Amino acid sequence: MARIFAVANQKGGVGKTTTTVNLAAALAAHGQRVLLVDLDPQGNATMGSGVDKRTAPSTVYQVLIGLKQLSESRQRSEAGGYDVLPANRELAGAEVDLVTIENREKRLKDQLATVASEYDFVLIDCPPSLSMLTLNGLCSAHGVIIPMQCEYFALEGLSDLVNTIKQVHAKLNRDLKIIGLLRVMFDPRSTLAQQVSAQLETHFGDKVFKAVIPRNVRLAEAPSHGLPGVVFDKAAKGSQAYLAFATEMIERIKTV
Ligand code: ATP
Ligand code: MG
Repeated sequence: MARIFAVANQKGGVGKTTTTVNLAAALAAHGQRVLLVDLDPQGNATMGSGVDKRTAPSTVYQVLIGLKQLSESRQRSEAGGYDVLPANRELAGAEVDLVTIENREKRLKDQLATVASEYDFVLIDCPPSLSMLTLNGLCSAHGVIIPMQCEYFALEGLSDLVNTIKQVHAKLNRDLKIIGLLRVMFDPRSTLAQQVSAQLETHFGDKVFKAVIPRNVRLAEAPSHGLPGVVFDKAAKGSQAYLAFATEMIERIKTV
């Protein structure tokens, strides 16, 4: 049965999509069967996996509102070696459409249950908000992966997310836990980054992943080629870090 992880942080531009896409491709490279769910109307994870969001016949939107099955809406990322449930701007309407739908926060969970036996990992790329879409992600997941930059305000934003996760755990999804915090876009030469990183380790202990993703331009270039960074330039420092992160995830799920 698939282990399901939401990649979430309500802060924008912190590396959620880069993490989801590269972890998916890195897990696939390690022989794991992976489904990536794009839950963001921006559709960046879809495009970054080499799937065209503009021509997708069916997306996560139709799946959420009950017009299509997940099994008929997923596509193959040939580049990444994993499956993708695509998203595009249509998904922005889901927020309103879901209001009248029963069990609206569990729509994705129910659909994932229909394909869970076909995968080892399901990774959900959440949008930069604590919206109904993110709630669907959190209700579906066994755990949350939180990518974060080691900046001054990073810890402050984290408490809102941690509180939301606690509430979802208490009221909607007893399985949910924080799997770990992933330091991304890390600059080892920055004293501030080192200080924040040390603070994170003090506060969260072994919830902080050992893998650290450095700032690396090859990871930023890859999406314009429709390729995950780990495929675009496997030898790049950022790619090597995501491959190490995938190994750490495979180890970690044995104990959670
Ligand atoms: P949003 O909140 O808009 O969904 P996000 O949290 O998904 O954003 P990304 O899109 O993954 O964040 O990353 C934001 C930007 O930073 C992108 O241009 C991406 O290419 C770049 N980026 C992400 N990680 C790295 C890295 N390790 N090194 C260099 N650039 C990176
Ligand atoms: Mg994103």
